Amino acid sequence: MRQDKLLVPTLREAPGDAEANSHKLLLRGGYIRQLAAGVYTYLPLGWRVLRKVSNIVREEMDRTGAQELLMPAMQPAELWQESGRYHVYGPELIRLKDRNDREFALGPTHEEVITTLVRNEVTSYRKLPMNLYQIQTKYRDERRPRFGLLRGREFMMKDAYSFDVNWEGLDKVYKEMYNAYSRIFTRVGLDFRAVEANAGSIGGEGENHEFMALADIGEDTIVSCTACDYAANLEKAEAGFTEVPRRDEGAPAFERIHTPGSASIAQLSEALGVPANQLVKTMIYVADGKIAAVLIRGDHEVNELKLQEVLGFEDIRPAESEEVAAAGFVPGFASPVGLDVTVIADREVMNVASWIVGANEKDYHLKHVIPGRDVKITKVADVRNATEGDVCPRCGKPLQFHRGIEVGHVFKLGTKYSQALGATFLDQEGKSQTMIMGCYGIGISRILSAITEQRSDGGSMVWPVSIAPFHVHLIQIAAKDEAQRQLAEQLYEQLQAAGIEVLYDDRDERAGVKFKDADLMGMPIRVTVGKQAGEGLVEFKNRAEDRNEVYTAEQVMAEVL
Ligand code: ATP
Ligand code: MG
Ligand code: MG
Ligand code: MG
Repeated sequence: MRQDKLLVPTLREAPGDAEANSHKLLLRGGYIRQLAAGVYTYLPLGWRVLRKVSNIVREEMDRTGAQELLMPAMQPAELWQESGRYHVYGPELIRLKDRNDREFALGPTHEEVITTLVRNEVTSYRKLPMNLYQIQTKYRDERRPRFGLLRGREFMMKDAYSFDVNWEGLDKVYKEMYNAYSRIFTRVGLDFRAVEANAGSIGGEGENHEFMALADIGEDTIVSCTACDYAANLEKAEAGFTEVPRRDEGAPAFERIHTPGSASIAQLSEALGVPANQLVKTMIYVADGKIAAVLIRGDHEVNELKLQEVLGFEDIRPAESEEVAAAGFVPGFASPVGLDVTVIADREVMNVASWIVGANEKDYHLKHVIPGRDVKITKVADVRNATEGDVCPRCGKPLQFHRGIEVGHVFKLGTKYSQALGATFLDQEGKSQTMIMGCYGIGISRILSAITEQRSDGGSMVWPVSIAPFHVHLIQIAAKDEAQRQLAEQLYEQLQAAGIEVLYDDRDERAGVKFKDADLMGMPIRVTVGKQAGEGLVEFKNRAEDRNEVYTAEQVMAEVL
C-alpha cells in the first residue's frame, strides 16, 4: 500500500489525557481515535492489526472444532431476568428501551443468548459436545473507562461457550481451550501467564483461569511461585470498593430493614439499593471443629481447598444445616450479629461489610453493621490476599509479584445458566439432563494495547511480525530522485509479488518526517532507499533486533522470505 493516501494521522504529541504509554502510542501512531470515553474508531492500521489478531484466534478456535457464529448485540431484558442477572449486573449493563417500551440490554457477554439458542435448537446428546464462538463488539458501561483500548465501553471480544453431557466433557474442552489460548497468546507475541482466578460476576461452580499479559500498567496483581507452577490473581473485580469509608469513624448504628422472606442477594440488593456484587454473602463452615462464618462477596465462590491452604486450617467443610441452626444462624445471606464465631473475610470485603450488610434475623437485614463492634470477630484473614514475604500455598517456597493485564479468561460454568434457562438434553436412555457449560473470553481489542504496552519503549514501538499491520515499511528518502524511485518501485513490486505486506512511503516529505512517522507506526522491518540507490543498495533494518545492514534488492528479498 502506498502511504500517500493512507489515513494514518500520526501525532507529534500525545493528547494530554492519555496516561498509558500504549494509549499515547496508539493515538500518535495513527491507530485509533476516541469518539467518546471508552469508545474508539479503529483507523486503517489499527483495524489491520485487529483483523490479524482475530484471524489467529479463529484459526486456533477452529482447530479445536469450535464453530463460529454471530449473535446480536441487542438482547431482550427478559433473558437477563430469566437468568437472574438483570439486577445483579448493575450499572455496567447498558439498558435501553424500544419504541414500544420493551427493555433491552447491549450485550456485555452472551451466556443468556447462547444458552437460549442451544436450549431451543439442541435437544439430544447426539449433538453434544458443542462449542460455539463469536468475535463481536461488546458493551460495558465501565466505571472508569481508561488507558485507550485496555478498558473500553465498546470493545471487541471473542467469546466461546461449550455445552457438554457431563463434567468429564467439560474438563476436556476446558483443557483444549486453555491450550488454544496459550497458542493464541504466544502467536500474537505476548509475554503472558495463566493464573488461577476468581469468578467475578459471571459466576459458576468450577475452576477458572485468567491469561495475564505482564505489564506494569496492569490493574491486576499476579502472584506466582518461584519454585513450582502455582500462579494466581490477587486482584478482585473492581466493583467500586474504594470509596467506601473505613471502619467506624462516624459510622451510624446499624438499622433493621424489613425484607420479607429475605434470602436472595437480588432482593437484598434491591432493598438496600446496593449493587449485588458489593454485598457480602456469608457461608457457614466448620473449621477445625469450630463453627465459622466466611464473608465473601455476593458474586464470589470460595474454594475450600484455598481456605484450608491460606488460613492453615487442618480441616474445613461446609456446615450441615443442623449445625447452622444450632449455632444460631438463619440461613440466607446474612452475617451473624453478636455471635462468637470465627469470621473469615478478606480485607476489602470487611470494609464493605462494615457499612452495608448484616442480618441474622428472619425477614430482616441489618444495614451498617460493623464487624468488631456489632459482630464479634475471632479471626480475620485474607482469603484472597497475599503480600510480599508470603510463601506459596502449594509448596511453601517464596512468592513473586507481577502486574498483569487480563487478556483472556476461561471458566467452568457448570449448570448455572443451563439450569436457569432450561438448557436440557435427552441422554441415551431418553432421560432429560441439564447441560454442563463452560465459557471462554479473549479481549481482542485489549490485546492491541497490551502488546503496545509490552513492545514500546518510550517514544516508539515495534509490532511482532504475526500481527504487524505491514511487514515492511519501505521508505524512499527523496521523492523526486529518479534512481531512488526506480529501485523503490522495483522492491515494492517484488515484495508484494512474494506475498509480503509492504507500506511504501512515497510521500514528498522530508526524511526526518518519514523516519519519525515510521518509528511511531512500528513496522518490524524498514527498508530505506536513499543515496546509494544508484549502486543498487538500500538500508535494511530489523527493528526488533535493532540490526542494520546495507543490502542489495536480492539480499532484501532473501532475508524477508
Ligand atoms: P476486567 O477484570 O478487566 O474488568 P472482566 O473479568 O470483567 O475484565 P471478562 O468478563 O472475563 O472480563 O471478559 C473476557 C475478556 O474481555 C477479558 O479477559 C478482557 O480481556 C476483555 N475485556 C473485559 N472488559 C473489557 C473492557 N472494558 N475493554 C476491553 N476489553 C475488555
Ligand atoms: Mg477480571
Ligand atoms: Mg470487568
Ligand atoms: Mg474476567
